[in-house]
Amino acid sequence: MFDDRYALAHKLYPYARVADQDRPQPVRHPVVVVGGGPIGVATALDLGQQGIPVLVLDDHEGIGMGSRAICFAKRSLEIADRYGCGAPMLEKGIVWNLGKVFHHDRKVFEFNLLPEQGHKYPAFINLQQPYFEGFMIDRLRALQAEGAPIEIRGKNRVDAAEVKGDHVVLDVMTPDGPYSVEADWLVACDGANSPLRSMLGHSFAGKVFEDSFLIADIRMTGDVTFPTERWFWFEPSHGEGASLLLHRQPDDIWRVDFQIGWDVDRKEELKEVNIRRRLDAFLDGIDYDLIWSSIYTFQCKRMERFRHGPVFFAGDAAHQVSPFGARGANSGMQDVDNLGWKLGLVIAGKAPERLLDSYSEERVYGADENILNSTRSTDFITPKSEISKIFRDAVLTLAGKAAFARPLVNSGRLSVPCVYDGLSLNGPDALAGAPERSRVGAPLVDAPVEGGWLLDRLGGAFQLLTIDAEAPQVLEFDGITVTRVALSAAGHPELAERYLGSATSAVYLMRPDQHVAARWDSFDVDAVAAAVKTATARG
Ligand SMILES: Cc1cc2nc3c(=O)[nH]c(=O)nc-3n(C[C@H](O)[C@H](O)[C@H](O)COP(=O)(O)OP(=O)(O)OC[C@H]3O[C@@H](n4cnc5c(N)ncnc54)[C@H](O)[C@@H]3O)c2cc1C
Repeated sequence: MFDDRYALAHKLYPYARVADQDRPQPVRHPVVVVGGGPIGVATALDLGQQGIPVLVLDDHEGIGMGSRAICFAKRSLEIADRYGCGAPMLEKGIVWNLGKVFHHDRKVFEFNLLPEQGHKYPAFINLQQPYFEGFMIDRLRALQAEGAPIEIRGKNRVDAAEVKGDHVVLDVMTPDGPYSVEADWLVACDGANSPLRSMLGHSFAGKVFEDSFLIADIRMTGDVTFPTERWFWFEPSHGEGASLLLHRQPDDIWRVDFQIGWDVDRKEELKEVNIRRRLDAFLDGIDYDLIWSSIYTFQCKRMERFRHGPVFFAGDAAHQVSPFGARGANSGMQDVDNLGWKLGLVIAGKAPERLLDSYSEERVYGADENILNSTRSTDFITPKSEISKIFRDAVLTLAGKAAFARPLVNSGRLSVPCVYDGLSLNGPDALAGAPERSRVGAPLVDAPVEGGWLLDRLGGAFQLLTIDAEAPQVLEFDGITVTRVALSAAGHPELAERYLGSATSAVYLMRPDQHVAARWDSFDVDAVAAAVKTATARG
Protein backbone atom coordinates (compact mmCIF):
# COMPACT_ATOMS: atom_id res chain seq x y z
CA MET A 1 0.00 0.00 0.00
CA PHE A 2 2.87 2.37 0.67
CA ASP A 3 5.84 1.52 -1.49
CA ASP A 4 8.38 4.33 -1.78
CA ARG A 5 8.84 5.47 -5.38
CA TYR A 6 12.43 6.45 -4.65
CA ALA A 7 15.14 5.80 -2.07
CA LEU A 8 15.71 8.40 0.61
CA ALA A 9 18.96 10.27 1.22
CA HIS A 10 17.69 11.63 4.56
CA LYS A 11 14.62 10.59 6.53
CA LEU A 12 13.60 13.95 7.97
CA TYR A 13 9.86 13.85 8.59
CA PRO A 14 8.90 10.30 9.60
CA TYR A 15 5.25 9.34 9.57
CA ALA A 16 3.37 10.09 12.80
CA ARG A 17 -0.33 9.71 13.40
CA VAL A 18 -2.09 13.07 13.88
CA ALA A 19 -5.41 14.15 15.40
CA ASP A 20 -6.88 14.97 11.94
CA GLN A 21 -6.95 11.22 11.24
CA ASP A 22 -9.34 10.56 14.13
CA ARG A 23 -11.83 13.36 13.51
CA PRO A 24 -15.29 12.38 12.23
CA GLN A 25 -15.27 15.36 9.80
CA PRO A 26 -12.34 16.54 7.67
CA VAL A 27 -10.41 19.35 9.35
CA ARG A 28 -10.13 22.61 7.37
CA HIS A 29 -6.64 24.15 7.00
CA PRO A 30 -5.95 27.66 5.67
CA VAL A 31 -3.19 26.44 3.31
CA VAL A 32 -2.22 22.91 2.33
CA VAL A 33 0.91 22.33 0.26
CA VAL A 34 1.17 19.00 -1.55
CA GLY A 35 4.79 17.96 -2.07
CA GLY A 36 7.77 18.26 0.25
CA GLY A 37 10.34 18.86 -2.51
CA PRO A 38 12.31 22.12 -2.59
CA ILE A 39 9.38 24.17 -3.86
CA GLY A 40 6.82 22.83 -1.38
CA VAL A 41 9.16 23.36 1.56
CA ALA A 42 10.07 26.88 0.35
CA THR A 43 6.32 27.65 0.22
CA ALA A 44 5.97 26.48 3.80
CA LEU A 45 8.88 28.68 4.89
CA ASP A 46 7.47 31.74 3.15
CA LEU A 47 3.97 31.37 4.59
CA GLY A 48 5.11 30.10 8.00
CA GLN A 49 7.41 33.09 8.41
CA GLN A 50 4.41 35.34 7.79
CA GLY A 51 2.54 33.51 10.57
CA ILE A 52 0.12 31.82 8.17
CA PRO A 53 -0.71 28.23 9.22
CA VAL A 54 0.54 25.87 6.53
CA LEU A 55 0.40 22.08 6.28
CA VAL A 56 2.76 20.17 3.94
CA LEU A 57 1.77 16.65 2.83
CA ASP A 58 4.46 14.51 1.25
CA ASP A 59 4.22 10.89 0.17
CA HIS A 60 7.76 10.16 1.41
CA GLU A 61 9.47 10.73 4.74
CA GLY A 62 12.35 12.87 3.59
CA ILE A 63 14.66 13.84 0.78
CA GLY A 64 15.27 11.65 -2.23
CA MET A 65 18.66 10.12 -3.01
CA GLY A 66 20.73 11.48 -5.87
CA SER A 67 21.93 14.97 -6.53
CA ARG A 68 19.57 16.01 -9.40
CA ALA A 69 19.80 19.81 -9.24
CA ILE A 70 23.30 21.03 -8.47
CA CYS A 71 23.40 24.59 -9.82
CA PHE A 72 21.61 27.12 -7.64
CA ALA A 73 21.42 30.68 -8.91
CA LYS A 74 22.00 33.95 -7.12
CA ARG A 75 18.30 34.78 -7.02
CA SER A 76 17.41 31.45 -5.37
CA LEU A 77 20.06 32.13 -2.73
CA GLU A 78 18.68 35.62 -2.19
CA ILE A 79 15.19 34.17 -1.73
CA ALA A 80 16.56 31.49 0.60
CA ASP A 81 18.37 34.26 2.48
CA ARG A 82 14.99 35.87 3.21
CA TYR A 83 13.75 32.50 4.44
CA GLY A 84 16.76 32.30 6.77
CA CYS A 85 18.69 29.49 5.07
CA GLY A 86 20.85 31.19 2.43
CA ALA A 87 23.97 31.33 4.62
CA PRO A 88 24.46 27.55 5.15
CA MET A 89 23.84 26.96 1.43
CA LEU A 90 26.55 29.44 0.52
CA GLU A 91 28.91 28.02 3.11
CA LYS A 92 28.50 24.44 1.88
CA GLY A 93 28.22 25.24 -1.83
CA ILE A 94 30.99 25.56 -4.37
CA VAL A 95 31.04 29.10 -5.73
CA TRP A 96 31.54 29.52 -9.45
CA ASN A 97 31.12 32.36 -11.91
CA LEU A 98 33.24 31.20 -14.85
CA GLY A 99 32.22 28.86 -17.66
CA LYS A 100 34.25 27.51 -20.59
CA VAL A 101 32.97 25.90 -23.76
CA PHE A 102 35.05 23.54 -25.91
CA HIS A 103 34.57 22.02 -29.35
CA HIS A 104 36.54 18.78 -29.45
CA ASP A 105 39.67 19.88 -27.53
CA ARG A 106 39.56 23.52 -28.55
CA LYS A 107 38.21 26.27 -26.26
CA VAL A 108 35.73 28.33 -28.28
CA PHE A 109 34.12 30.51 -25.66
CA GLU A 110 34.42 31.66 -22.08
CA PHE A 111 31.92 33.57 -19.93
CA ASN A 112 31.81 35.18 -16.51
CA LEU A 113 28.31 35.20 -15.07
CA LEU A 114 29.04 37.90 -12.50
CA PRO A 115 31.82 40.08 -13.79
CA GLU A 116 31.24 42.74 -11.08
CA GLN A 117 31.79 42.80 -7.31
CA GLY A 118 29.44 44.08 -4.66
CA HIS A 119 26.81 41.38 -4.24
CA LYS A 120 26.13 39.34 -1.09
CA TYR A 121 25.64 36.16 -3.16
CA PRO A 122 27.62 34.90 -6.16
CA ALA A 123 26.16 34.19 -9.59
CA PHE A 124 25.93 30.48 -8.83
CA ILE A 125 26.81 27.84 -6.31
CA ASN A 126 26.95 24.14 -6.94
CA LEU A 127 25.25 22.19 -4.19
CA GLN A 128 23.63 18.78 -4.34
CA GLN A 129 19.83 19.07 -4.21
CA PRO A 130 19.59 16.96 -1.01
CA TYR A 131 21.78 19.55 0.77
CA PHE A 132 19.68 22.43 -0.61
CA GLU A 133 16.49 20.74 0.59
CA GLY A 134 18.11 19.69 3.87
CA PHE A 135 19.02 23.27 4.79
CA MET A 136 15.43 24.30 4.14
CA ILE A 137 14.09 21.52 6.37
CA ASP A 138 16.57 22.59 9.10
CA ARG A 139 15.15 26.08 8.82
CA LEU A 140 11.59 24.75 8.89
CA ARG A 141 12.38 22.91 12.14
CA ALA A 142 13.96 26.07 13.61
CA LEU A 143 10.88 28.11 12.70
CA GLN A 144 8.63 25.45 14.24
CA ALA A 145 10.69 25.66 17.43
CA GLU A 146 10.12 29.43 17.43
CA GLY A 147 6.36 28.78 17.17
CA ALA A 148 5.80 29.27 13.43
CA PRO A 149 2.56 27.48 12.42
CA ILE A 150 4.16 25.00 9.98
CA GLU A 151 3.43 21.28 9.92
CA ILE A 152 4.94 18.65 7.62
CA ARG A 153 3.50 15.14 7.42
CA GLY A 154 5.55 12.35 5.88
CA LYS A 155 3.98 9.31 4.20
CA ASN A 156 0.82 11.30 3.58
CA ARG A 157 0.00 10.65 -0.06
CA VAL A 158 -2.76 12.65 -1.71
CA ASP A 159 -4.86 10.21 -3.72
CA ALA A 160 -7.76 12.44 -4.71
CA ALA A 161 -8.55 16.14 -4.85
CA GLU A 162 -11.78 17.94 -5.53
CA VAL A 163 -12.51 21.66 -5.67
CA LYS A 164 -15.79 22.31 -3.86
CA GLY A 165 -16.70 25.95 -4.38
CA ASP A 166 -14.26 28.03 -2.38
CA HIS A 167 -12.19 25.18 -0.93
CA VAL A 168 -10.52 21.89 -1.80
CA VAL A 169 -11.09 18.43 -0.34
CA LEU A 170 -8.16 16.02 -0.32
CA ASP A 171 -8.19 12.27 0.26
CA VAL A 172 -4.93 11.32 1.94
CA MET A 173 -3.50 7.80 2.31
CA THR A 174 -1.20 6.95 5.22
CA PRO A 175 0.32 3.75 6.61
CA ASP A 176 -2.68 3.76 9.04
CA GLY A 177 -5.20 4.09 6.24
CA PRO A 178 -7.05 7.00 4.61
CA TYR A 179 -8.38 10.30 5.96
CA SER A 180 -9.53 13.56 4.43
CA VAL A 181 -8.54 17.18 4.92
CA GLU A 182 -9.91 20.41 3.53
CA ALA A 183 -7.96 23.45 2.42
CA ASP A 184 -9.00 27.06 1.85
CA TRP A 185 -6.01 27.27 -0.48
CA LEU A 186 -4.00 24.46 -2.02
CA VAL A 187 -0.49 24.83 -3.44
CA ALA A 188 0.39 21.89 -5.69
CA CYS A 189 4.17 21.36 -5.60
CA ASP A 190 4.00 17.67 -6.44
CA GLY A 191 6.62 17.62 -9.17
CA ALA A 192 6.80 17.15 -12.93
CA ASN A 193 4.35 14.25 -13.04
CA SER A 194 1.98 16.14 -10.71
CA PRO A 195 -0.77 13.72 -9.72
CA LEU A 196 -2.83 16.77 -8.69
CA ARG A 197 -2.68 18.15 -12.22
CA SER A 198 -4.25 14.92 -13.47
CA MET A 199 -6.72 14.63 -10.57
CA LEU A 200 -8.01 18.14 -11.28
CA GLY A 201 -8.05 17.56 -15.04
CA HIS A 202 -5.51 20.13 -16.19
CA SER A 203 -3.33 19.71 -19.26
CA PHE A 204 0.42 20.17 -19.57
CA ALA A 205 1.44 21.13 -23.09
CA GLY A 206 4.84 21.46 -24.74
CA LYS A 207 7.65 19.61 -26.37
CA VAL A 208 9.43 16.34 -25.56
CA PHE A 209 13.09 16.31 -26.58
CA GLU A 210 14.35 13.07 -28.01
CA ASP A 211 17.70 12.71 -26.31
CA SER A 212 19.02 11.06 -23.17
CA PHE A 213 21.72 12.12 -20.77
CA LEU A 214 23.74 9.93 -18.46
CA ILE A 215 24.77 11.57 -15.20
CA ALA A 216 27.61 10.19 -13.12
CA ASP A 217 28.57 11.76 -9.80
CA ILE A 218 32.13 10.73 -9.02
CA ARG A 219 34.79 11.41 -6.41
CA MET A 220 38.15 11.78 -8.15
CA THR A 221 40.90 10.28 -6.08
CA GLY A 222 43.88 10.99 -8.29
CA ASP A 223 45.45 14.27 -9.34
CA VAL A 224 42.57 16.57 -10.26
CA THR A 225 43.51 19.37 -12.61
CA PHE A 226 40.03 20.70 -13.39
CA PRO A 227 39.30 24.15 -11.93
CA THR A 228 36.04 25.19 -10.21
CA GLU A 229 34.37 26.26 -13.42
CA ARG A 230 31.57 24.96 -15.64
CA TRP A 231 33.19 23.13 -18.54
CA PHE A 232 31.09 22.06 -21.51
CA TRP A 233 32.34 20.12 -24.53
CA PHE A 234 30.59 19.81 -27.88
CA GLU A 235 31.68 16.54 -29.53
CA PRO A 236 34.40 15.82 -26.93
CA SER A 237 37.52 14.43 -28.54
CA HIS A 238 37.57 11.26 -26.43
CA GLY A 239 34.51 10.28 -28.41
CA GLU A 240 32.04 9.27 -25.67
CA GLY A 241 28.82 11.25 -26.06
CA ALA A 242 27.73 14.07 -28.35
CA SER A 243 28.29 16.60 -25.56
CA LEU A 244 29.74 16.52 -22.07
CA LEU A 245 29.31 18.75 -19.03
CA LEU A 246 31.59 18.83 -16.00
CA HIS A 247 30.79 20.55 -12.70
CA ARG A 248 32.37 20.42 -9.29
CA GLN A 249 30.16 19.82 -6.26
CA PRO A 250 30.91 19.92 -2.51
CA ASP A 251 32.57 16.90 -0.82
CA ASP A 252 35.08 16.58 -3.72
CA ILE A 253 32.36 15.21 -5.97
CA TRP A 254 32.16 16.00 -9.67
CA ARG A 255 29.13 15.79 -11.92
CA VAL A 256 29.83 14.35 -15.37
CA ASP A 257 26.90 14.55 -17.76
CA PHE A 258 27.15 12.65 -21.08
CA GLN A 259 24.71 13.20 -23.96
CA ILE A 260 24.11 9.64 -25.13
CA GLY A 261 21.31 9.88 -27.72
CA TRP A 262 17.63 8.90 -27.75
CA ASP A 263 17.64 5.34 -28.94
CA VAL A 264 19.57 3.77 -26.06
CA ASP A 265 19.12 0.71 -23.90
CA ARG A 266 18.84 2.44 -20.50
CA LYS A 267 19.43 -0.73 -18.50
CA GLU A 268 22.57 -1.49 -20.47
CA GLU A 269 23.89 2.08 -20.26
CA LEU A 270 23.40 2.15 -16.50
CA LYS A 271 25.56 -0.96 -15.95
CA GLU A 272 28.62 0.12 -13.99
CA VAL A 273 30.95 -1.33 -16.58
CA ASN A 274 29.45 0.87 -19.29
CA ILE A 275 29.42 4.00 -17.15
CA ARG A 276 33.06 3.36 -16.29
CA ARG A 277 33.93 2.88 -19.97
CA ARG A 278 32.68 6.40 -20.71
CA LEU A 279 34.34 7.88 -17.61
CA ASP A 280 37.67 6.13 -18.24
CA ALA A 281 37.79 7.45 -21.80
CA PHE A 282 37.15 10.98 -20.52
CA LEU A 283 39.35 10.97 -17.41
CA ASP A 284 42.28 9.27 -19.04
CA GLY A 285 43.91 7.59 -16.04
CA ILE A 286 42.47 9.64 -13.14
CA ASP A 287 41.14 7.35 -10.38
CA TYR A 288 37.61 7.88 -9.13
CA ASP A 289 34.78 6.36 -7.09
CA LEU A 290 31.37 6.21 -8.69
CA ILE A 291 28.88 7.74 -6.23
CA TRP A 292 25.59 7.97 -8.11
CA SER A 293 24.32 7.64 -11.65
CA SER A 294 21.11 8.13 -13.53
CA ILE A 295 19.74 8.67 -17.02
CA TYR A 296 17.39 11.54 -17.69
CA THR A 297 15.34 12.75 -20.61
CA PHE A 298 13.40 15.98 -20.56
CA GLN A 299 10.53 18.06 -21.81
CA CYS A 300 9.77 21.78 -22.04
CA LYS A 301 6.16 22.13 -20.95
CA ARG A 302 3.86 24.29 -18.90
CA MET A 303 0.27 24.50 -17.74
CA GLU A 304 -1.85 27.12 -19.43
CA ARG A 305 -2.58 28.85 -16.10
CA PHE A 306 -0.97 28.37 -12.70
CA ARG A 307 -4.06 29.37 -10.70
CA HIS A 308 -7.35 27.48 -10.82
CA GLY A 309 -9.66 28.98 -8.19
CA PRO A 310 -8.30 28.01 -4.77
CA VAL A 311 -5.52 25.86 -6.32
CA PHE A 312 -2.07 27.10 -7.34
CA PHE A 313 0.55 25.09 -9.17
CA ALA A 314 4.23 25.84 -8.53
CA GLY A 315 7.63 24.44 -9.47
CA ASP A 316 7.88 21.41 -11.77
CA ALA A 317 4.14 20.75 -11.37
CA ALA A 318 3.47 24.02 -13.24
CA HIS A 319 6.36 24.04 -15.72
CA GLN A 320 9.23 21.88 -16.82
CA VAL A 321 12.43 22.78 -18.67
CA SER A 322 15.61 21.02 -19.72
CA PRO A 323 18.37 21.04 -17.10
CA PHE A 324 20.56 23.17 -19.45
CA GLY A 325 20.60 26.58 -17.83
CA ALA A 326 19.59 25.28 -14.40
CA ARG A 327 16.13 26.75 -14.62
CA GLY A 328 14.07 24.03 -12.86
CA ALA A 329 14.37 24.49 -9.11
CA ASN A 330 15.63 28.04 -9.63
CA SER A 331 12.44 29.13 -11.38
CA GLY A 332 10.33 27.23 -8.83
CA MET A 333 11.92 29.33 -6.08
CA GLN A 334 10.78 32.43 -7.96
CA ASP A 335 7.23 31.02 -8.10
CA VAL A 336 7.18 30.74 -4.32
CA ASP A 337 8.69 34.20 -3.91
CA ASN A 338 5.88 35.54 -6.09
CA LEU A 339 2.98 33.64 -4.53
CA GLY A 340 3.89 33.95 -0.85
CA TRP A 341 3.25 37.66 -0.25
CA LYS A 342 0.15 37.72 -2.44
CA LEU A 343 -1.46 34.83 -0.59
CA GLY A 344 -0.40 36.44 2.69
CA LEU A 345 -2.15 39.73 1.85
CA VAL A 346 -5.31 38.02 0.60
CA ILE A 347 -5.56 35.76 3.67
CA ALA A 348 -5.04 38.81 5.90
CA GLY A 349 -7.89 40.59 4.07
CA LYS A 350 -5.55 43.34 2.87
CA ALA A 351 -5.86 42.70 -0.86
CA PRO A 352 -8.65 41.41 -3.10
CA GLU A 353 -8.59 37.84 -4.31
CA ARG A 354 -7.85 38.97 -7.86
CA LEU A 355 -4.29 39.79 -6.73
CA LEU A 356 -3.78 36.03 -6.89
CA ASP A 357 -4.45 36.02 -10.65
CA SER A 358 -1.26 38.03 -11.03
CA TYR A 359 0.66 35.01 -9.70
CA SER A 360 -0.33 33.15 -12.83
CA GLU A 361 0.21 36.18 -15.07
CA GLU A 362 3.73 36.85 -13.79
CA ARG A 363 4.94 33.29 -13.40
CA VAL A 364 3.56 32.11 -16.76
CA TYR A 365 5.54 35.01 -18.24
CA GLY A 366 8.62 33.76 -16.33
CA ALA A 367 8.02 30.17 -17.42
CA ASP A 368 7.78 31.20 -21.07
CA GLU A 369 11.10 33.02 -20.82
CA ASN A 370 12.69 29.94 -19.25
CA ILE A 371 11.17 27.57 -21.80
CA LEU A 372 12.35 29.79 -24.67
CA ASN A 373 15.91 29.88 -23.34
CA SER A 374 15.90 26.23 -22.47
CA THR A 375 14.54 25.21 -25.88
CA ARG A 376 17.12 27.34 -27.71
CA SER A 377 19.96 25.78 -25.71
CA THR A 378 18.61 22.31 -26.27
CA ASP A 379 18.23 22.86 -30.02
CA PHE A 380 21.85 24.05 -30.18
CA ILE A 381 23.21 21.22 -28.02
CA THR A 382 21.18 18.51 -29.74
CA PRO A 383 20.54 19.70 -33.33
CA LYS A 384 17.68 17.70 -34.77
CA SER A 385 18.29 18.13 -38.49
CA GLU A 386 21.35 17.93 -40.70
CA ILE A 387 21.03 21.64 -41.56
CA SER A 388 20.86 22.68 -37.87
CA LYS A 389 23.94 20.60 -37.18
CA ILE A 390 25.83 22.25 -40.05
CA PHE A 391 24.87 25.67 -38.63
CA ARG A 392 25.84 24.61 -35.10
CA ASP A 393 29.22 23.26 -36.16
CA ALA A 394 29.93 26.36 -38.27
CA VAL A 395 29.23 28.58 -35.24
CA LEU A 396 31.55 26.45 -33.09
CA THR A 397 34.32 26.58 -35.68
CA LEU A 398 33.97 30.34 -36.12
CA ALA A 399 33.67 31.09 -32.38
CA GLY A 400 37.29 30.10 -31.80
CA LYS A 401 38.43 32.81 -34.21
CA ALA A 402 35.70 35.44 -34.51
CA ALA A 403 34.19 37.34 -31.59
CA PHE A 404 30.85 37.93 -33.35
CA ALA A 405 30.13 34.17 -33.39
CA ARG A 406 30.72 33.66 -29.65
CA PRO A 407 27.34 34.91 -28.41
CA LEU A 408 25.72 32.36 -30.74
CA VAL A 409 27.34 29.47 -28.88
CA ASN A 410 24.64 28.14 -26.58
CA SER A 411 25.59 25.48 -24.07
CA GLY A 412 22.80 26.61 -21.72
CA ARG A 413 22.07 30.26 -20.90
CA LEU A 414 22.13 30.13 -17.13
CA SER A 415 19.17 31.04 -14.98
CA VAL A 416 18.60 34.70 -14.25
CA PRO A 417 15.42 35.98 -12.62
CA CYS A 418 12.58 37.20 -14.75
CA VAL A 419 11.77 40.93 -15.10
CA TYR A 420 7.99 41.38 -15.15
CA ASP A 421 8.08 43.88 -18.01
CA GLY A 422 4.74 45.48 -18.86
CA LEU A 423 2.62 43.34 -16.51
CA SER A 424 -0.45 44.46 -14.62
CA LEU A 425 0.97 45.12 -11.13
CA ASN A 426 3.59 47.54 -12.46
CA GLY A 427 3.41 51.24 -11.61
CA PRO A 428 5.15 54.14 -13.33
CA ASP A 429 8.79 53.99 -14.38
CA ALA A 430 9.39 57.71 -13.94
CA LEU A 431 13.06 58.11 -13.11
CA ALA A 432 14.83 59.83 -15.98
CA GLY A 433 18.35 58.54 -16.64
CA ALA A 434 17.88 55.50 -14.40
CA PRO A 435 19.58 52.17 -15.10
CA GLU A 436 17.76 49.58 -17.15
CA ARG A 437 18.48 46.68 -14.83
CA SER A 438 16.61 48.15 -11.85
CA ARG A 439 13.57 49.06 -13.97
CA VAL A 440 9.99 48.50 -12.89
CA GLY A 441 9.31 44.74 -12.75
CA ALA A 442 12.96 43.85 -12.04
CA PRO A 443 14.09 42.00 -8.94
CA LEU A 444 16.41 43.81 -6.56
CA VAL A 445 19.96 44.30 -7.80
CA ASP A 446 22.09 43.89 -4.71
CA ALA A 447 24.69 46.49 -3.66
CA PRO A 448 26.89 47.14 -0.63
CA VAL A 449 25.31 49.72 1.70
CA GLU A 450 26.12 51.10 5.14
CA GLY A 451 26.86 48.14 7.39
CA GLY A 452 25.98 45.34 4.95
CA TRP A 453 23.96 44.64 1.85
CA LEU A 454 20.90 46.15 0.23
CA LEU A 455 19.51 42.61 0.19
CA ASP A 456 19.43 42.61 4.00
CA ARG A 457 17.44 45.85 4.09
CA LEU A 458 14.67 44.92 1.66
CA GLY A 459 11.98 42.25 1.47
CA GLY A 460 8.97 40.79 3.24
CA ALA A 461 6.82 43.96 3.05
CA PHE A 462 6.19 46.98 0.83
CA GLN A 463 9.06 49.44 1.25
CA LEU A 464 10.07 52.81 -0.07
CA LEU A 465 13.74 52.87 -0.96
CA THR A 466 14.82 56.48 -1.06
CA ILE A 467 18.24 57.51 -2.33
CA ASP A 468 19.08 61.10 -1.47
CA ALA A 469 15.36 61.87 -1.40
CA GLU A 470 12.97 62.87 1.37
CA ALA A 471 9.91 60.79 2.35
CA PRO A 472 7.96 59.91 5.52
CA GLN A 473 9.35 57.00 7.56
CA VAL A 474 6.06 55.09 7.55
CA LEU A 475 3.07 55.33 5.25
CA GLU A 476 -0.28 53.57 5.57
CA PHE A 477 -2.56 52.86 2.63
CA ASP A 478 -5.76 50.98 3.59
CA GLY A 479 -3.99 48.50 5.82
CA ILE A 480 -0.80 48.23 3.73
CA THR A 481 2.15 49.63 5.63
CA VAL A 482 5.03 51.01 3.60
CA THR A 483 8.23 51.68 5.52
CA ARG A 484 11.10 53.75 4.26
CA VAL A 485 14.66 52.54 3.73
CA ALA A 486 16.65 55.76 3.49
CA LEU A 487 20.05 55.60 1.78
CA SER A 488 22.52 57.99 0.30
CA ALA A 489 24.59 57.40 -2.80
CA ALA A 490 27.50 59.28 -1.19
CA GLY A 491 30.29 56.78 -0.65
CA HIS A 492 28.27 54.01 -2.33
CA PRO A 493 29.25 54.01 -5.99
CA GLU A 494 27.60 50.64 -6.67
CA LEU A 495 24.26 51.87 -5.31
CA ALA A 496 24.54 55.00 -7.46
CA GLU A 497 25.43 53.02 -10.55
CA ARG A 498 22.73 50.37 -10.02
CA TYR A 499 19.84 52.64 -8.88
CA LEU A 500 20.50 56.24 -9.96
CA GLY A 501 22.32 56.14 -13.27
CA SER A 502 22.46 59.80 -14.22
CA ALA A 503 19.64 60.79 -11.80
CA THR A 504 20.61 62.61 -8.60
CA SER A 505 17.86 61.19 -6.38
CA ALA A 506 15.42 58.29 -6.49
CA VAL A 507 12.35 56.85 -4.79
CA TYR A 508 11.70 53.16 -5.46
CA LEU A 509 8.53 51.37 -4.34
CA MET A 510 9.65 47.79 -3.64
CA ARG A 511 7.26 44.83 -3.40
CA PRO A 512 7.60 42.26 -0.60
CA ASP A 513 9.33 39.91 -3.09
CA GLN A 514 12.00 42.61 -3.69
CA HIS A 515 10.75 43.42 -7.21
CA VAL A 516 10.49 47.07 -8.22
CA ALA A 517 6.83 48.20 -8.30
CA ALA A 518 7.43 51.81 -9.39
CA ARG A 519 10.15 54.48 -9.34
CA TRP A 520 10.36 58.26 -9.41
CA ASP A 521 12.96 60.97 -8.83
CA SER A 522 11.17 62.34 -5.73
CA PHE A 523 8.44 61.46 -3.26
CA ASP A 524 4.81 62.19 -4.00
CA VAL A 525 2.26 60.66 -1.66
CA ASP A 526 -0.50 60.40 -4.26
CA ALA A 527 1.82 58.72 -6.73
CA VAL A 528 2.96 56.17 -4.12
CA ALA A 529 -0.65 55.54 -3.01
CA ALA A 530 -1.67 54.86 -6.62
CA ALA A 531 1.29 52.53 -7.19
CA VAL A 532 0.52 50.56 -4.00
CA LYS A 533 -3.08 50.25 -5.21
CA THR A 534 -1.90 48.91 -8.57
CA ALA A 535 0.66 46.55 -7.00
CA THR A 536 -2.01 45.03 -4.76
CA ALA A 537 -4.63 44.75 -7.53
CA ARG A 538 -6.93 47.19 -5.75
CA GLY A 539 -7.13 49.51 -8.72
C1 LIG B 1 19.34 15.60 -13.88
C2 LIG B 1 18.70 16.82 -13.37
C3 LIG B 1 19.47 17.94 -13.13
C4 LIG B 1 18.88 19.10 -12.68
N1 LIG B 1 19.67 20.18 -12.46
C5 LIG B 1 19.10 21.32 -12.00
C6 LIG B 1 19.92 22.41 -11.65
O1 LIG B 1 21.16 22.34 -11.72
N2 LIG B 1 19.31 23.55 -11.19
C7 LIG B 1 17.95 23.62 -11.03
O2 LIG B 1 17.45 24.68 -10.63
N3 LIG B 1 17.15 22.57 -11.33
C8 LIG B 1 17.69 21.43 -11.79
N4 LIG B 1 16.91 20.33 -12.02
C9 LIG B 1 15.46 20.43 -11.77
C10 LIG B 1 15.09 20.25 -10.29
O3 LIG B 1 15.56 19.01 -9.82
C11 LIG B 1 13.58 20.33 -10.16
O4 LIG B 1 13.14 21.51 -10.84
C12 LIG B 1 13.10 20.40 -8.72
O5 LIG B 1 13.31 19.20 -8.02
C13 LIG B 1 11.59 20.68 -8.69
O6 LIG B 1 11.17 20.77 -7.37
P1 LIG B 1 9.64 20.53 -7.00
O7 LIG B 1 9.56 20.74 -5.51
O8 LIG B 1 8.78 21.34 -7.90
O9 LIG B 1 9.34 19.01 -7.38
P2 LIG B 1 10.02 17.66 -6.80
O10 LIG B 1 11.43 17.89 -6.39
O11 LIG B 1 9.76 16.62 -7.83
O12 LIG B 1 9.17 17.36 -5.51
C14 LIG B 1 7.83 16.89 -5.58
C15 LIG B 1 7.46 16.28 -4.24
O13 LIG B 1 6.07 15.92 -4.26
C16 LIG B 1 5.92 14.62 -3.70
N5 LIG B 1 4.67 14.06 -4.23
C17 LIG B 1 4.41 13.66 -5.49
N6 LIG B 1 3.16 13.18 -5.58
C18 LIG B 1 2.60 13.29 -4.34
C19 LIG B 1 1.32 12.96 -3.80
N7 LIG B 1 0.35 12.42 -4.54
N8 LIG B 1 1.09 13.20 -2.48
C20 LIG B 1 2.05 13.77 -1.70
N9 LIG B 1 3.29 14.08 -2.18
C21 LIG B 1 3.55 13.85 -3.48
C22 LIG B 1 7.19 13.90 -4.16
O14 LIG B 1 7.47 12.76 -3.40
C23 LIG B 1 8.25 15.00 -3.93
O15 LIG B 1 8.69 15.03 -2.61
C24 LIG B 1 17.48 19.15 -12.47
C25 LIG B 1 16.70 18.02 -12.69
C26 LIG B 1 17.30 16.86 -13.14
C27 LIG B 1 16.44 15.65 -13.37
